[in-house]
Amino acid sequence: MDNDLDQIFDELNSVFFEGRLPKYRVRRCQPHGREHGFIDNTTATIWICASPEPRQTLLHEMCHIGTLGHGRLFRAKLRRLARRGEMWAQAERIYYLREEIGMKANGWITLWEVAYHLRGGLSVSAI
Ligand SMILES: [Zn+2]
Repeated sequence: MDNDLDQIFDELNSVFFEGRLPKYRVRRCQPHGREHGFIDNTTATIWICASPEPRQTLLHEMCHIGTLGHGRLFRAKLRRLARRGEMWAQAERIYYLREEIGMKANGWITLWEVAYHLRGGLSVSAI
C-alpha cells in the first residue's frame, strides 16, 4: 500500500498550499527514464519513481497540479516553496529559469544576471 505517500500529500497540501489542491492519489512506480516522478492529470495520480528525495519529488509534482511545464507560473510556485524554507526549490527555480533563457549550456551566466531576472527574489529567499 502507498498510504504513506497519500498522507504526505495531505500534509504538504495543508502546509504549502493551504489545503487548496484537489486530492490526488500518490503511487510508486518503476524507474521511468531519468524522471523521479510524473503527474497524470487525467487520473489525478502522482507517480513517484525511484526518487532519492520522494518528498521533494512529490512537492515538485504538486506544483504541476494546474500548471504544466516549468514556465513562469511553475517557477512562482517554486518561489513560494523556497520562501517557506524549501531551499532546493530555489535551486530548481534557477535551473529552470536558466533553461528558459537558453543559457543552460553556456555556463557563463553570472549570479548577478540570475538575480536580475529573479527581480530580487534571490536575495530575499537566500536569507
Ligand atoms: Zn516538472
